[in-house]
Amino acid sequence: EKCVSCGQCLINCPFGAIADKSQIFQVIQAINRGDEVIAEVAPAFVGQFGGKGNVDKLRQAFSMLGFSGMEEVAVGADLCTVQEAEDFMEEVPEKIPFMGTSCCPAWSVMAKTEFPEHAECISMALTPMTLTARLIRKQRPNAKIVFVGPCSAKKLEAMRRSVRSEVDFVLTFEEMAGMMKGRGIDEYTKLEGEGSSDFEVASADGRGFAVAGGVANAVVNAIKVIDPEREVNVVNAEGLENCRKMMKDAVKGKYPGYLLEGMACPGGCIAGAGTMRPIEQAHKEVEAFSSEAKFTCANDTPYMEYLPLIEE
Ligand code: SF4
Repeated sequence: EKCVSCGQCLINCPFGAIADKSQIFQVIQAINRGDEVIAEVAPAFVGQFGGKGNVDKLRQAFSMLGFSGMEEVAVGADLCTVQEAEDFMEEVPEKIPFMGTSCCPAWSVMAKTEFPEHAECISMALTPMTLTARLIRKQRPNAKIVFVGPCSAKKLEAMRRSVRSEVDFVLTFEEMAGMMKGRGIDEYTKLEGEGSSDFEVASADGRGFAVAGGVANAVVNAIKVIDPEREVNVVNAEGLENCRKMMKDAVKGKYPGYLLEGMACPGGCIAGAGTMRPIEQAHKEVEAFSSEAKFTCANDTPYMEYLPLIEE
C-alpha cells in the first residue's frame, strides 16, 4: 500500500530484478493500424536522445516512427503553473496553511495518503501531462495520445479513474530511444526538423519543470506577474524521504504560508526511472534549452485562454 510508483526501485535494485510494464507494443500496434497517434513529450526530454533539445528535429524523428504529431508537455506545464499560482493566491493562508505542488504524482500520492488530514494542502491543479493531453484532445478528438517521459508514476496517473487524463499510453524516454534505434535514428539532432505544431512554444519556466526547484520557481514567477506585492516563501524537497520530512515539518507548522515543491526523484524529473542521461549534464542541457524559449514566464504564453475549456 506504500508504493507510489516513483520507479526508484527500478534503478536502485542491485540485481536489476524489478521492471515495469511497457506499452511499447500497444503504441506500435496503434501506429501500424493507422490510428492517429500523437506524442506529448515531457520537458525532461532535453539531452535524453543525445545532443541539445530541439523540438522540430524531435518532431521529425517521431514522424519517421509513424506518429502523426508531437507536442511539448511544457505547454501544459505553463497551464499548470498558472492554475497553481491562482490556487495559492486564493487559498494560502486563509483556507489552507501551506500548499504543495501537484505535478509529481509520486510525491502528491505519498503526501495525501500518509498525511490524510492535510490532503487538501496539496494543489488540485491538473498535471502538465493531463493538461497537455486535454489540449491535444480538443484539437484531435479521435487521436491516441502517448505521454513520453521520464516517469513510471505517470503510468499509474494515466490509468487513474478519478481524473480523466486523456492519455492512452505512457512510454519512458528509454522505451522511446529503443523505438528510435529500431528505426535507425541514432542522432535525431542531425535531422532537418519539421516545424508544424498545433500549439505555440512553451515558456522557459514551463520547460524548467524538468529540474528540481523548477516548478516552484515557475509558480513564484507567475504570482509575481499577477500580484507584484505578494511575497512567497518556498521550500523544496527531492527524493521521497526528503519529501516526507518536508511534509512532516509543514504539518508541525514549520512552513506557514509556504509553497512546498516535492519531487520524488532526487534531481527532479531529469532523474526519473525512465531517463538515460547523467543528472548534472541533463540539468545543464535543460537550462540551456529553456533559455532559448520565446517567453520567460508561464503567464506570457498565448494559450491561457484554453485553460477554462479543459479544466473540467
Ligand atoms: Fe515522475 Fe518527475 Fe515525480 Fe520522478 S520527480 S516520480 S520523474 S514526476
